[in-house]
Amino acid sequence: EELYLINGWGEPYFSINEAGHVTVSPRGDRGGCIDLFDLVSDLRQRGLRLPLLLRFSDILADRIERLNACFARAIARYNYQGVYRGVYPVKVNQQKHLVAELTKFGQPFQFGLEAGSKPELLIAIATLKTPGALLICNGYKDREYVETAMLSQRLGKKPIIVLEQLEEVDLAIAAAQKLGIKPNLGVRAKLSSKGSGRWAESAGDRAKFGLHMWEILTVVEKLAAADLLDSLQLLHFHIGSQISAISTIKDALREAAQIYVQLAKIGANMQYIDVGGGLAVDYDGTKTNSAASKNYNMQNYAYDVVAEIKEACAEGKVEPPTIVSESGRAIASHQSILIFDVLGTSSRPQAGIEPLQPGEHLIIRNLFETLENINAQNYQEAYHDAIQFKGEAASLFGFGYLGLRERARVERLYWECCDRILKIVRQQEHVPDELSDLEISMAQTYYCNLSVFQSIPDNWAIGQMFPIMPIHRLNQEPSNRGTIADLTCDSDGHIKEFIARYSSKEILELHPFDKNDNDPYILGLFLGGAYQEILGDLHNLFGDTDTVHIHITHRGYKVEHVVKGDTMNEVLEYVQYSRGELLESMRRETEAALQEDAITIDEARLLLQNFEHSLDGYTYLSPT
Ligand code: PLP
Repeated sequence: EELYLINGWGEPYFSINEAGHVTVSPRGDRGGCIDLFDLVSDLRQRGLRLPLLLRFSDILADRIERLNACFARAIARYNYQGVYRGVYPVKVNQQKHLVAELTKFGQPFQFGLEAGSKPELLIAIATLKTPGALLICNGYKDREYVETAMLSQRLGKKPIIVLEQLEEVDLAIAAAQKLGIKPNLGVRAKLSSKGSGRWAESAGDRAKFGLHMWEILTVVEKLAAADLLDSLQLLHFHIGSQISAISTIKDALREAAQIYVQLAKIGANMQYIDVGGGLAVDYDGTKTNSAASKNYNMQNYAYDVVAEIKEACAEGKVEPPTIVSESGRAIASHQSILIFDVLGTSSRPQAGIEPLQPGEHLIIRNLFETLENINAQNYQEAYHDAIQFKGEAASLFGFGYLGLRERARVERLYWECCDRILKIVRQQEHVPDELSDLEISMAQTYYCNLSVFQSIPDNWAIGQMFPIMPIHRLNQEPSNRGTIADLTCDSDGHIKEFIARYSSKEILELHPFDKNDNDPYILGLFLGGAYQEILGDLHNLFGDTDTVHIHITHRGYKVEHVVKGDTMNEVLEYVQYSRGELLESMRRETEAALQEDAITIDEARLLLQNFEHSLDGYTYLSPT
């Protein structure tokens, strides 16, 4: 099987070339390919630091085009008489450059934006300039939210205010009457069909958002009483993110399409059905109904959405609506890659064991004998023996019958036995259960220059898996097994699940790394472009990483924007420390130490220089 199952989750954007480097084809199979390792080396020569977030604008463009093409194909296939208008949920990644690029690439498709909060509404209103593109206004609302959204109609925008709470209908009616604006309104339905997977709680009777049927009816009555029933145009539902089973999506669609038909029949001016997000990303490439994957593709999704809506409308004899979807993960995940370097590994004993000396302890002699006789026939038995001798050595040590040197020699011998057994185990087709954990217990920790909390918070918070792999040396077999630990001094800052070809998911295949070689060992974390950047936090004060926008050109690529990550000064300010005060406090203490001859003048200068230089520096480690 191919390394890191890259074809499964990486197609059509990521692959491996003959040089053993990961390549990026931002336009999928439509040409143009960048050697990721060369690109990173190039960027480092330009003075950019690791960890580094690379953003490929062309991937973003490709995702939008794909999604629209899938819906266009579905509409053609079912001869659907309505259109598709996607919106991008700003919450997924609010970074200015990304939203700006997205709305630009979305123009040909009249791609709109979805806001889930007041600050996101401000972004959406100010950024979205595409004529006719929808501005879906979700989330909790107050008077100012509703009025601002409605007033944007005067600027030629197309806001649709989606009522998620019963009180919001009163706010909307009041604002409409105050401003004399006929608003576009929608309702978010609480479906009884349950979601599945991690975000199952987003749907169902006890979901946080959405209106029960009796509440939707109350909305209809209140709007009718205010002569605003023709403002009610959209039905929205969202059954959760990363829905791995297509059957769950279909169930929800069937229920929602019925609600749509019923609303149209009781006099609402229905024109849009907004199917929310949920279109999943195949993080592990297995194409299965499991949390890190999905059992359908984007095209199946579009087919099912269009088919279910068409059928319900045909049966109910109502006009087919404009179909809106709010896919975030499926749009934004692929466009960024987090690049980080390995700083070191947990140590393991040097290979090579000194020969047995006359008079060594019986337990050492036993382990020697075990080691020398390990073969493909007896490796299981040898493993038991080695464990037993190691245990006995620990007891003897506890009673004072074995010295420190002897205990250390036992450890080395045990390690060497396991190493040899492991080599044999790896060649076996079927590994006995008791040996399957050997890989895990022998795995090394690779200490990496990143913060899990800042850059992949969902891995820490909900165990979300992301593909991680080296971006070079891929023409060498990754003969080591390891886990990844980050820079924080938190034991949760540890990545514990990986994409594996044949070994356990708890460990990652990696190449041997020797710090003294001075060759960097660089890894990439893929598919992390949705949610991670904004959910990331400042645990241990590791700040935002540098970000680079790469755009593919005829000659290769161009660096479009460089967004510098946080300096230490910036993260310290965030927790109310001021640069001036910190420096002054250090200066005073240094001066006092000088007065007492506790520090030399050279040391004092170096201390203050380092302190000040650090304040302006990156929060991550530099290799030199
Ligand atoms: N729409 C709403 C209302 C959401 O809450 C979310 C996120 O959960 C989305 C859209 C985006 O979902 P996804 O990223 O699964 O496409």
